[in-house]
Amino acid sequence: MWLPSVSFVLLCILQLAACAEDFYKLLGIDKSASERDIKRAYRTLSKKYHPDKNPNNEEAKQKFVEVAEAYEALSDPESRKIYDQYGHEGLKQRQQGGGQGHHDPFDLFSRFFGGGGHFGHQPGQRRGQDMEVRVGIPLRDFYNGHKTEFQLEKQQICEECEGSGSADGQVDQCHSCGGHGVKIQKHMLAPGIFQQVQVSCDVCGGQGKTIKHKCAVCDGNRVVRKVSTFQLNVEKGAPKGHRIRYENDADESPDYVAGDLHVTLTEKDARIDEDNEGHVDGTFFRRKGDDLYWKEVLSLREAWMGGWTRNLTHLDGHVVALSRPRAEVVQPNLVERVQGEGMPKWHEDGDSVYHTTEFGDLLVEYVIVLPDQLEKGMEKDFWALWEKWRKKNGVDLQKDSGRPEGPVQMPQVKDEL
Ligand SMILES: [Zn+2]
Ligand SMILES: [Zn+2]
Repeated sequence: MWLPSVSFVLLCILQLAACAEDFYKLLGIDKSASERDIKRAYRTLSKKYHPDKNPNNEEAKQKFVEVAEAYEALSDPESRKIYDQYGHEGLKQRQQGGGQGHHDPFDLFSRFFGGGGHFGHQPGQRRGQDMEVRVGIPLRDFYNGHKTEFQLEKQQICEECEGSGSADGQVDQCHSCGGHGVKIQKHMLAPGIFQQVQVSCDVCGGQGKTIKHKCAVCDGNRVVRKVSTFQLNVEKGAPKGHRIRYENDADESPDYVAGDLHVTLTEKDARIDEDNEGHVDGTFFRRKGDDLYWKEVLSLREAWMGGWTRNLTHLDGHVVALSRPRAEVVQPNLVERVQGEGMPKWHEDGDSVYHTTEFGDLLVEYVIVLPDQLEKGMEKDFWALWEKWRKKNGVDLQKDSGRPEGPVQMPQVKDEL
């Protein structure tokens, strides 16, 4: 008999906890969060839990409502102060005392994303145009993966008037068109013959509404152009031209649901002096797919006599050693393939601890530089050395070039018939 009662008590406690979930926790922010952080959290979470995206999911629907509640409590400085001091109980009392009540969560959503608070697949719902933007990223960040931000100026719903265009919230029906936004004009084509043409209302600009006191911030336009900051996560090994979609983050308007913003990653030339705190050699790497290319310069002596070492500082600062023992020749333009020292191969689980990243190869091309001048004494010594060995061994250019000695014998092809 005791078992069910315990689980009943447990259930009650759980429910109590669920009712009073901390607003900060709900939005995934901490108490010092700025107004911008709160907005950003709301934008992300309200899209995630929107019922249009989670059909028949009661839990998501509940979250969608809670996120809106949390946003409304924390975005208003006064209610945030009350919440910080007295918690949920304090807010409840304020509401009972005639304070601001809850808005419709869909209404709040539409203040951020336009339209009627829904995503674009509602019949008759207009959708704004998608936007394309390119963001330049240095190769180093493609290699290591990088969380960064970029800024973009776009059209946004005026926060001051919440997209109404009115300073006092008062919006009237246009008297000229009766709220239709359009008027019928009659043109006389010939005596007694008229043509009816539908034209946009010039009084309200086709809106069907007029405003007596225009909002001072947007001048009654309901939207403003403003710079927004976006979080950008460049994943390890993301390919050049990688496209990232920001849902409903294109130009906003109260008249339609905002389209998507597409960000294309391009490779930006890194500046050696400005962009390279770690002093990695990455500024000179070139990327082709998953492979990296590098040019290494050797002197004549090194190429011919061997006995040299080079330390390349890779894009994350680790060192790749190139070397030859003494007496090992490197031919000009030789390409050496160093396995596993190329780009990380992009994978959607790239940052997961359970995922091991594979790498492409590093292709090192050797460029050999001959000295312009020889010191007189050196020239004499070399000349003497060459003469000595030439006389001793003789030089057969034909042989050294690798050409065959006699005439080339073509293989005999037997005629089958
Ligand atoms: Zn405004
Ligand atoms: Zn009108």
